[in-house]
Formats: sequence, structure tokens, C-alpha cells
Amino acid sequence: MRIAQRARAGTSSLRVLHACAELYPWVKSGGLGDVAAALPPALAALDVDTRVILPGFPGFLDAFTEITDVVRLATPYAGERVRIARARLPDSGRYVYLVDHPPFYDRPGNPYAAPDGSDWPDNHRRFGLFSWAAAALARGADRDWRPAILHCHDWHGGLAPAYLAAAPPAESRVATILTIHNLAYRGIFPAAVFPELALPASFYAVAGVEFFGQVSFLKAGLFFAEQLTTVSPTYAREIQTPEFGWGLDGLLRTRASRLTGILNGVDPRIWDPRHDPNLPQPYDSETAPTGKRAAKAALCARLGLAEAQEAPLYGVVSRLTPQKGLDLLLAALPELVAGGGRLALLGSGDADLEQGFADAARANPNSIAVTLGYDDALSHLIIAGADMVLMPSRFEPCGLTQLYALRYGALPLVRRVGGLADTVVDASAVTLAEGTATGFAFDEASPAALLATATRAERLRREPRVWLYMMRRAMTRDFLWEASARRYRELYRHLLGGAPATAERVNAAAIAAGAG
Ligand code: ADP
Repeated sequence: MRIAQRARAGTSSLRVLHACAELYPWVKSGGLGDVAAALPPALAALDVDTRVILPGFPGFLDAFTEITDVVRLATPYAGERVRIARARLPDSGRYVYLVDHPPFYDRPGNPYAAPDGSDWPDNHRRFGLFSWAAAALARGADRDWRPAILHCHDWHGGLAPAYLAAAPPAESRVATILTIHNLAYRGIFPAAVFPELALPASFYAVAGVEFFGQVSFLKAGLFFAEQLTTVSPTYAREIQTPEFGWGLDGLLRTRASRLTGILNGVDPRIWDPRHDPNLPQPYDSETAPTGKRAAKAALCARLGLAEAQEAPLYGVVSRLTPQKGLDLLLAALPELVAGGGRLALLGSGDADLEQGFADAARANPNSIAVTLGYDDALSHLIIAGADMVLMPSRFEPCGLTQLYALRYGALPLVRRVGGLADTVVDASAVTLAEGTATGFAFDEASPAALLATATRAERLRREPRVWLYMMRRAMTRDFLWEASARRYRELYRHLLGGAPATAERVNAAAIAAGAG
């Protein structure tokens, strides 16, 4: 009965509110910002009326237009009322909401951390308020637009389903989804913060927000959201095991019937070698050999690498964290370089990895170029100019960089985990014979396994016809948002219809609806 009511909560089209802390190009620390930028318009193209609620970071307030008050709410987080504003995106004109509370959000740089790299000490309040505001909108705080579904992303919005669970039933009829973009970030805080969150005391429990004596915002979402998704089918299975579960695998196993994996996609407005202003010349799968040769030359010139078209050029664009397995690359680097390899790395993160790569570049200035920092334009040139893009990740929920690499004809060399396993077809005797190979994958997280795979790849690179075939195959594997959005739409429909949205059902329905 409640569900039937919910299904009618919108008008003719299905209304979905996304709660997300990042939105490319204004605020982005990784793939989450890309997803928040691409999924809502892809859903809108399928007639899903989609809006996003964001924290009021200065990067948003400075860029968005037509910022107007929706409501000022008394919250548990501030003495004064907090403004929820509606705004338009300057590029598309789509509506978004901002939680405008400068004491929490008007801080420079990284959305989560202080300039010294440490998490802001009041992050539980910053993202508690954000979750609270998302729940308020879901309960109808904007009288002109009330969603049927609240779709939260990662731990930042993880408390929103808990706030809705705490609300009176008549007000909590919105359906909730939580998407896990990375289970490693669990939003953990000391138990002492719990009273500041203004949740019922009974929610501090294993059946609630408690996580081994602390509070976890992500766990709250995993427990209270009706539907869970993550960003690849393999990762959906992996996170139910202790190896990848970060202590949450038990809970995820109990919720397995409500957990599906839906791959992310590529946004062709941003990533398309046929129309990329960062490349010296455009190219497609037919003109890739010349286009990539020009990109390789431009990349080497820009980075001061000795140009040698015949030398294998490896590209890396990544956060430098243990997740990404780049310590394996650092250990393998002397041998890769000794074998004639070149490396163009762009990234930032852990101090020891930054130092290690910077030292390697100083020792091998002709072969290794390391750019520490964040650089959008250079990331495009690396993906276009590299022969191979390396992602030796220890775990990878989906991974976008390998999808960009496939599209740009830079064959991904990856560890066979998560979304990498789902999107890269290793060049084996079978896949080469079938013509389905698009890259290289290995299992063991060791420098030796990485090196062996690089050697295997280099052997094939020396067979230009095989390599070109693989490149063309890779470039035409369309991982586009439209297919992902169809799956999310099916999920929404199942959810409002009251049926558990298992992977089989969502896929079957999406395929029947033309997702391919
Ligand atoms: P994650 O979300 O774990 O960081 P993904 O592969 O899903 O990994 O997404 C990473 C995104 O961030 C890609 O768009 C990638 O191009 C971009 N990126 C990562 N590091 C940098 C950097 N230093 N400069 C520019 N873009 C970067």
C-alpha cells in the first residue's frame, strides 16, 4: 500500500534526487565527480526527472547561476536556519540543490580534507548536515518538486536513509538507494559523535549505524537504504567477501538480494578522441595509428621525454593511494625502463609514492616523466599518447580510466579485479583468435606478475597488425552512460513496484528495453 502510494508520488515522470558530494568539473576528487556529472543527464534523456543535491562548496556557489532560496530549515546542526537553494548548472541549465551553510562548506580546496591533508575534524557534522538536508528534500521540503526516490552516493550521503527511517511513516514514503563507489571510504567517526547526529538512540546498534564501536555513515546507508548498488558486477560479488569487504561483508551478504552491480560509463562529451581539444589532432578507430602517433609525440615533447615511437610508452593517471597498486609499478619500474619502456605518470596522493616516483623520474629523465598534481588537459593527452595505460589496482570498484583508455586506443594493462575484470578482455590465445581481446590482465598483486604481463603485451605490440586489431576492438567497445542509465531506470521501476531488484531482473529488463 505504501509502495503503491509512492509510485504515484511524482507527476507523469519519475523523479529522482541524487545526493552526491562531487560534481565534475567544479568539485572532483575522483570518479565520483564524473559519475555525478554524467548519470543525471543520461537519466534525464530517458525521461527520468533527475536533480542532484550538493554541499554548498565555493566551487559550486561561484559557478552556478540563478541561485534562489527553496527553504530555510531549522536543523540539528546549526543555531541558525540552514538555506537550501536551487540553482542551475551553467552548462546544461539543469536544476541542482545546494546546502548553503558557509561555516561547514566555505573552505578551500579538497572537499574532505584540510590543506595539510588531514580530514576536517567536523566532517561528521558537514556530511551529517548534508545527509539531513537530502532527507528533508526527499520528505518534501521543496513544495514544487518532491522525488519518489532518493539515490545517495557513497558515505557522504549515507545518513540520509537513516534520517528517513527515523521519520514518521507518512513523511518517509520516498524510496532509497545507496550506491557504493568505493567501500574503502566508510565515513567512520568515534562513537562520541553519535549524539550530535540527532538520530534515535536505538540507531546506535549493530542493526543501525554502529560499526565495531564507532559510527559509520556508509554502514548506515548500507543498513537503512532499501536498495544497494555498486559500480560493477564483479565488485558487487567481491565486497561480500572478507578480502574486499572492509568489515562490511557480513552485512552485505545479508543484503545480497538487494545488491546489484551496474557499470559506470564514459561521457563522450568529455572523452572522445574525435573531438578532444587537448589532442594535437582528432582521431577515430580508422585514423588511430596517425592520431596516436601525433599524440605520443606531443606528450613526449610536453613532458621532456626522449621521443621514440618504437619504445613502449606506459601511461598512468591516478590517485596515488595503496588501492591503485602503484607501489607494484614503482618496484617494477627499473626493469621496465631497462627493457626500453617509457612512463608518463600524472597523479597525486600519498607522500611516499609521490616521492618514489619523483626520485625515479630524476634518475631517468629521458624515460620517466612524473607530474604530481591534478591536470585535466594532461590526463587527456596521456590517455591518447600512451600505448598502454597501467592500472595494477589492489581493488577497483569500476575504474573509469581504463574505459577512457579503451576509447582512446591505449590498451589497458590491469589487475583482474572489480570493474577492471568486467571491462578489459585479456589477450589470451582464445580471445586473440576470437578477436575479442582489448587489453592485458593479471591476477597476482606482485611486481613480477606486472612485469610478466608487460612483457607479454610488448611481444604483441611488436606485431602491428594484431595490435591495431586490438586497438580498434578496444575503441569500439562502447561503455556509454545510456546503457548504465537504462539499468538504473529499471532499478527505480522495480523499486517503486516493490520488487527486489536483483541483477538478473535489472539486466533482463534493461536489455528488453534496448540497453543491449
Ligand atoms: P577513482 O575514482 O578511484 O579515483 P577512477 O578511475 O574511477 O578512479 O576515476 C578517476 C578519475 O579521476 C578519472 O577521470 C581520471 O582521469 C581522473 N584523475 C585521477 N587523477 C588525476 C590527476 N592527477 N589529474 C587529472 N585527472 C585525474
